Amino acid sequence: MSATLEQIIDQVKENDPKADITLLRLAYDFAIKAHQNQTRKSGEKYIQHPLQTALTLAKIRSDLNMVIAGLLHDVSEDTNHKIEDIEKDFGKEIAFLVNGVTKLGKIKYRGAERYVESLKKMFIAMAEDIRVIIIRFADRLHNLETLDSLPLEKRQRIAQESMEIYAPIADLLGIWYFKNKIGDLCFKHLYPEEYKKLEYRYLIEQKFENKQFIEKTKKIITPHLKKENIKFEINGRFKGLHSIFLKMQRKDRPFSEIYDVFALRIVVDSIADCYKTIGIIHSIWKPKSHRFKDYIAIPKPNGYRALHTTVFGPNGKVTEFQVLTKDMYEESLYGIAAHWYYKGRTVQLEHQPRWIQDILNIMKQTKDNKEFVSNIKLSVFQDRIFVFTPKGDVIDLPEGATAIDFAYAVHTEIGNKCVGVLINDKISSLDISLKSGDSIEIITEKNRKKPGKDWLRLAKTPHARAKIKTAIKKDSGSALKRFIKWK
Ligand code: MN
Repeated sequence: MSATLEQIIDQVKENDPKADITLLRLAYDFAIKAHQNQTRKSGEKYIQHPLQTALTLAKIRSDLNMVIAGLLHDVSEDTNHKIEDIEKDFGKEIAFLVNGVTKLGKIKYRGAERYVESLKKMFIAMAEDIRVIIIRFADRLHNLETLDSLPLEKRQRIAQESMEIYAPIADLLGIWYFKNKIGDLCFKHLYPEEYKKLEYRYLIEQKFENKQFIEKTKKIITPHLKKENIKFEINGRFKGLHSIFLKMQRKDRPFSEIYDVFALRIVVDSIADCYKTIGIIHSIWKPKSHRFKDYIAIPKPNGYRALHTTVFGPNGKVTEFQVLTKDMYEESLYGIAAHWYYKGRTVQLEHQPRWIQDILNIMKQTKDNKEFVSNIKLSVFQDRIFVFTPKGDVIDLPEGATAIDFAYAVHTEIGNKCVGVLINDKISSLDISLKSGDSIEIITEKNRKKPGKDWLRLAKTPHARAKIKTAIKKDSGSALKRFIKWK
């Protein structure tokens, strides 16, 4: 399907009826001219690529400058136009975005080095201006959609890179739209047979069985919600094929035993209605124990908010319900991109997610590439937990983190002087893995100078490990000095 300028304009106007599209039209003319003699490997006119990129950006509610930068993103790389030309015609901000995307695309190395280099570039760009990454996602999405016309080897390399770098970062940023689309396209190219099999089962489930099931559930729950004056929309939410595949592998289970392939999503008006709705669901169907999750009180690290519960639903079928407000729903689709839409299009995010800072620190601290990748995997590409300080401040840590990681995350001195811990007011051992929602109080001893020897084993975060190493080194240094003095 081809994209047109009119489609982009319609979408931009839908996002913001007052948007001034003069510059957008100019960018279109500029891109048409710049790419006029180019075709893509598929035989299509090249302009389709920037048009599709810009359309995706408009669809996910990006700001207008991002949409324009999407139209211009390949101009300086593939044609004779310089970044200065773009700056002259379109201003500093758009030129900065285009330049950022171009820089991201230039990767010198091959193999493992290449992986590290592109990761590093992504994170640096992210710290500078996260919009660059989002434009890059839209660009990559269209490349993945048109991968078929490339030779097998190149196809697999691009799919592999996207699966390892783009999909997890989209997940971190909470952009479900990209995570799912990119994940599924990569899966299709990397595991074509498994993809086909799963797609077939999935379509049957989605088209036939689940449709009836959704209707039936709707009929049961509607009068209850109406009685409470709750306005709602109910629909099915299907897990991406790629996520299903990963879960089957992780749990070593067949498709038929993956329960959350589909969930019922109920979108309501207010947070109060979210909790009321969960109450109603639990009064109709028996909840499966320990499966209620309150991501409104404690959002996921990527910002996702909703209430989830799993119940023995109609026909005794184990069913997940996700209840959320309309704002939360938009945010779950577009993640960080949606923030500009809601928060009046501020240029920079006020608060960067903490993990971006973590990564920059890791980059500063590690020179060795292998160590860099494993540290990144440890502290970022892994589920994170939230725990509380005695004052109620939230500290987020990777899953598996211990009280020692917590202590060093709060303050280096608290780490170094730590002698014990109270987890939820109970004296606990320092090697226990913390759980989301735990409240943690570190017991310190004033005179303690150095961390315990075995702490390097107990600490899971690169941050805590680095601090422990420094403290041990310092201390052995001063012990040596004392020894020399004494001698
Ligand atoms: Mn491109």
